[in-house]
Amino acid sequence: MPFRSLSIIEPVVKALHEEGYTSPTPIQAEAIPIILEGNDLLGCAQTGTGKTAAFAIPILQLLGAAEKRNDKKRKIRSLIVTPTRELAIQIGDSFSAYGRHTGLNNTVIFGGVNQNPQISALRNGVDIVIATPGRLLDLVNQGFLHLRDVEILVLDEADRMLDMGFIHDIRKILAMLPKKRQSLFFSATMPPEIVKLAATILSNPSKVSVTPVSSTVEIINQQICFVDKGNKNSLLVHLLKNQDIRTALVFTRTKHGADKVVKYLQKHNITAAAIHGNKAQNARQRALANFKEQTMRVLVATDIAARGIDVDELEYVINFDMSNIAETYVHRIGRTGRAGAKGTAISFCDAEEKEYLRDVEKLIAKKIPVNDTHPFPLMDHNPVKTPKQQGRSNSGHPGPKPPASGKPKWGYSRSGKNK
Ligand code: AMP
Repeated sequence: MPFRSLSIIEPVVKALHEEGYTSPTPIQAEAIPIILEGNDLLGCAQTGTGKTAAFAIPILQLLGAAEKRNDKKRKIRSLIVTPTRELAIQIGDSFSAYGRHTGLNNTVIFGGVNQNPQISALRNGVDIVIATPGRLLDLVNQGFLHLRDVEILVLDEADRMLDMGFIHDIRKILAMLPKKRQSLFFSATMPPEIVKLAATILSNPSKVSVTPVSSTVEIINQQICFVDKGNKNSLLVHLLKNQDIRTALVFTRTKHGADKVVKYLQKHNITAAAIHGNKAQNARQRALANFKEQTMRVLVATDIAARGIDVDELEYVINFDMSNIAETYVHRIGRTGRAGAKGTAISFCDAEEKEYLRDVEKLIAKKIPVNDTHPFPLMDHNPVKTPKQQGRSNSGHPGPKPPASGKPKWGYSRSGKNK
């Protein structure tokens, strides 16, 4: 189905073609007509599904191709609230790309950096603001912007915003918006507190739900390497001897772990940098830019920092540590194999992590093939239990437990259908 059949205006269709998009993804095909009709939307979808374009395209269209205007008279007519600076930047880039022939402009507001460039962008006049909650409120409170003219609100990654403790900020932002507006609400998961929050924001919403990550999971070549904890670094260097791996995104559970991996790789002449919450904003952006341009081979990330990292043509994800939360595995490997591209996800699993692997296999409802040809096979089969592990029951794991039915929370199934 071409974009034109969704009645998308020519300037946007042209930009989408320039981006190399030929047809809408499932969430775009479903959500765009709903939004264009002016309805509120509750979208259950995560990064990797094309959800940014699913809201950006109709917003650009609804705000209308800008006629010649006095830039300073632009009003903030759409507000996108998102949890992390990386996501905010990526959403801003998407609006700029898809809207490049519309005359509409956008600016991105996030904390951890000097506020002055953001203030001057606002002073110059802006149609669309993409913001993280804290800095947005800060600038509103200082009087640098107001939200009285917002016609379309997007709450992006609502579950993550709640996890990160932004609920009070979100409520404050909501109170500043006009009551009469269109609201779009996206969340990867729909636990009860999210459903409750959505009900207070949306009016008679249409619902759209896609779980393509499960189909992404199907197309990704997944492998498990059983390995002793102390050999994980050596195994990583061994794998990276394969020059077919042009770039790899490596996940560690902790920031400290990420830094240690980077040091080890650098010692072995492999270009690498870490991206996590302790890094300065410009260091994170530089690392991400170098990685995207493939001038740096390995980006080592923790889960929070990696959420929303969007790298086209990323072929390899390596889980240096298994996450103790099974859903995180799906998020991590969903960074590769996007938009029909090839993808390989290699996970290192030591003796202690075997129970996390079992949780993952239950969630994705399949056994992950084992790579037993690498030179660092697991020798120590008896995990040393931490006091925390010893203290808990056999059935549980430290992360959220799967629902009692054993059914995955997001409805992943072997068939990849949304339940
Ligand atoms: P998102 O879920 O918004 O993070 O998007 C995931 C990736 O899909 C991004 O790299 C987009 O550039 C890409 N993408 C979004 N829509 C399309 C489309 N219709 N065709 C091809 N790629 C797309």
